[in-house]
Amino acid sequence: MGSPRPSPRARAGHSFAAAAGPLPAEVAAEVAAACRSWQGGGSVLGLSFVADAFRELQQDTERRLRRLLAIPEHYRVLFLAGGASAQFSLLPLNLLAGQGAAYVETGHWSRRASAEAARYGPVAVATGEGGAWRVDPAAAYCHLTSNETADGVQFRDFPALPVPLVADMTSDFLTRPIDFERLALVYAGTQKTIGVPGLTLVIVRDALLGRAHPATPRVMDYAAQAAAGSRLNTPPVFAIFVAHAMLGWIERRGGIAAMAQAAERRSGEIYRVIDGSRGFYRNRIEPARRSRINVCFGLADDRLTEAFVAAAERCGYSGLRGHPEVGGIRVSLYNGTPDPAVAGLAALMREFPSLVG
Ligand code: PMP
Repeated sequence: MGSPRPSPRARAGHSFAAAAGPLPAEVAAEVAAACRSWQGGGSVLGLSFVADAFRELQQDTERRLRRLLAIPEHYRVLFLAGGASAQFSLLPLNLLAGQGAAYVETGHWSRRASAEAARYGPVAVATGEGGAWRVDPAAAYCHLTSNETADGVQFRDFPALPVPLVADMTSDFLTRPIDFERLALVYAGTQKTIGVPGLTLVIVRDALLGRAHPATPRVMDYAAQAAAGSRLNTPPVFAIFVAHAMLGWIERRGGIAAMAQAAERRSGEIYRVIDGSRGFYRNRIEPARRSRINVCFGLADDRLTEAFVAAAERCGYSGLRGHPEVGGIRVSLYNGTPDPAVAGLAALMREFPSLVG
């Protein structure tokens, strides 16, 4: 514990931060090269959204997404800006059409989504246990957060409901298959699992388009953007470029099945240390609801939390503090997380009790 702090360069560092996921080295190199010169021309940073080359890039991004997730023909893919938080307002604006909505509240982000929707129309909090949620059949839609980034809980399966189901998949998009039989709309910011901030993907069933409130900004109207190929105004060109590169990497690594296996393997490694620590580390979430992406835990003696964070930082592992509302430790394991970093952190977790014991 008292060893001198190694220089940042000497450390095999890794950020386990929840807010943004790492790009695999291969993808980062591809992006860096394209910032200098892309397709034999200038930098991708100056790519015009009306250029044919961008249109082809966007179309290929959509093709990759459709292949990876088996997105049915009758769903549109929208490339929007504004982050997932903007969708908290845009969903009710686009879908309520004078009705109410149901919200499943499982943690911080679903509560944020629900509170925002309540500004636009009546919101009923769905009640239920396990997978059986009771929802008013007259609701325009039901919203849930597939993975609660702050709380470390995740839906394994999505409930079958009498109304269109909408999922915020910002923190587990492309880490698992998507059941489009159950989900009418999926949205996700891309900064955690497939790239950099700036792009929000909305995958929406055709039948839900065309209901927007007349005051909806045109550039935020799903139907208007669908009709314009998401180029009604300037889309986030660079973030789309990075997502395209990440999607190529995911395909080369074996697609969604490989991402899902990696998520299970990496989170399993951390949960095994927690469960084998005789109560030194604590996670009270029942195993079937534990997140495979954001592993949250506390130390039985909370006074050791800061010592743990400091010990991890000495090993080069940063971004481990829990969400401010939740506290404790949070290990975020997005698609680009390298396995050796997870193994290194797990080893530190096993060793730490003896360092402070
Ligand atoms: N939903 C979830 C599940 C999130 O984890 C986050 C960000 N951590 C958001 C929404 C908000 O994303 P943004 O800040 O990009 O709007």
